Amino acid sequence: MSRRYNFCAGPAALPTEVLEQAQQDLLDWQGRGLSVMEMSHRSDEFQGIARQAQEDLCELLSIPDQYHCLFVQGGATAQFSAVPLNLMGLTGKADYLNTGLWSSKAIEEARRFGEVNLVADGQPASYCSLAPIEQWRFSEAADYFHYTPNETIGGFELNEIPEVPSAPLVADMSSTLLSRPLDVSRFGLIYAGAQKNIGPAGLTLVLVREDLLDRALAVVPRTLHYRLIADHHSMLNTPPTYGWYLAGLVFQWLKREGGLGVMAERNRRKADKLYAAIDGSGFYANPVEPQYRSRMNVPFTLADGTLNDAFLEGAEESGLLNLRGHRSVGGMRASLYNAVPEAAVDALVGYMNEFERRYG
Ligand SMILES: *Cc1c(COP(=O)(O)O)cnc(C)c1O
Repeated sequence: MSRRYNFCAGPAALPTEVLEQAQQDLLDWQGRGLSVMEMSHRSDEFQGIARQAQEDLCELLSIPDQYHCLFVQGGATAQFSAVPLNLMGLTGKADYLNTGLWSSKAIEEARRFGEVNLVADGQPASYCSLAPIEQWRFSEAADYFHYTPNETIGGFELNEIPEVPSAPLVADMSSTLLSRPLDVSRFGLIYAGAQKNIGPAGLTLVLVREDLLDRALAVVPRTLHYRLIADHHSMLNTPPTYGWYLAGLVFQWLKREGGLGVMAERNRRKADKLYAAIDGSGFYANPVEPQYRSRMNVPFTLADGTLNDAFLEGAEESGLLNLRGHRSVGGMRASLYNAVPEAAVDALVGYMNEFERRYG
């Protein structure tokens, strides 16, 4: 068996230890004679798995008591609809910040259900920069403020949680949740598809404050209704049981590794190393204004784009997988989620230097 270094943006690398545990459990979970995939979600066994995962998540993020942790399906994309459907019940208006392709998709969807005020727009700057917060245009009254702290495609990140008048804050944290400690109490709602930094595709996490559960539009489908999902402990219908179990193994792994503070340090070192290699060369470039550079997703281009395929082929031969950039951005992208070890970044930087020496 040889596991290579996987820089995929999503579905992304999982910790090898987690996959080994899953392999061990696959046919016969803890001597019960069946797989987690074959258990009723109502069984004592699965209820125990579900509860443990929720407790570990709350511990890792120090989630305050008045929040519900929902384990749902539909990806972050379903949340683009669920957020306005559940929260636009007061004024029918919301403030949105546009920092990249994922926020623009969230905006497009929210417009189907209410009035969207674009607070600031990074699109004219090709999502590489953004007006300072003093210039953002907030609504007089809005039901919430939505933003995407880390844009997975463009590699654009807001490091600070913005201080905004239009509370509550709602954030799509698909590619950054659990990559560092987070003050959950600053947010009304956080959602994240699991397949970037949490677990396998098919599971989505929603952390929602209790007081936001009763603002839904009348038309919200039952499967997206936060109050109903919370009241049924995420078992209104069959939840993504195997994804829930695997995410639980990831939470245990994070605790063993020392928690989110340790992850933050490690992720900082990984990103610093890669950006230093890019900036120190005359061959590679990252277009994002330095204060907004993502620690999780690092896009970069080669000085000569005709070498892209040669770069990717050589990378694969060196055991470095999935470095092709998103089709809308081009070039390369290295995603550096928790499960990507520092040794992977060292190997990537070594390969980049060697490639530059040969072709640069
Ligand atoms: C991947 C991603 C999405 C889309 O997730 P799906 O699970 O495919 O719906 C949305 N937002 C961000 C920030 C992402 O990284």
